[in-house]
Amino acid sequence: MPVDKTQASIRAVAFLGAKKWIMTKYGEKIYKEFLSKYPDLAVVIERKGLLPVSWLPMKDFNVLANAIIEFFGQGGTANFQEMCKWVAGDALSTTLKVFMKLGTPSFIATAFPGTFAHYFTIGKWTNLLIQSKRVEGELREDSKDNGPARCMATMAWARGALEYSGAKNLIQLHPECIFKGGSRCYFVYTWD
Ligand SMILES: [Zn+2]
Repeated sequence: MPVDKTQASIRAVAFLGAKKWIMTKYGEKIYKEFLSKYPDLAVVIERKGLLPVSWLPMKDFNVLANAIIEFFGQGGTANFQEMCKWVAGDALSTTLKVFMKLGTPSFIATAFPGTFAHYFTIGKWTNLLIQSKRVEGELREDSKDNGPARCMATMAWARGALEYSGAKNLIQLHPECIFKGGSRCYFVYTWD
């Protein structure tokens, strides 16, 4: 399916990875219960021919996020964030994992703009500050259609990347958010 860059979309690996996460962590029986509770989502995830690089609407990703938050988190977001971090790690090739292990967290952060652009059609990530123990970045040229699940997912994959490359005691802050009245989404990551 050709990508429509005017629509807020995300790579289907986020959905296929969510399926794999549920199957790995909870098993097939729970995955089937999950699908039967959210039939609209089942249509999206189980669509024939869906590839990790396919594009799906962010609207559906927010439905997925809310379903995981409700079904696995009893309203808490920890499971959804864990899922996003797990999927980000699972999607990395062995070569990239070796590369990340060799890099420092602040070096890995230089790849955030390209990583974001690979997974999302709308929004532009800019690194505002890169220091040895601190990274600040912002998202602009954004769309409300991305929904708050985008911010949670972005923080989760960034956590995975920074921790994988050696960041200890990572603290992530999201002091400005377009879904909370901000004019941009602004993120601050610090670590030891
Ligand atoms: Zn935000």
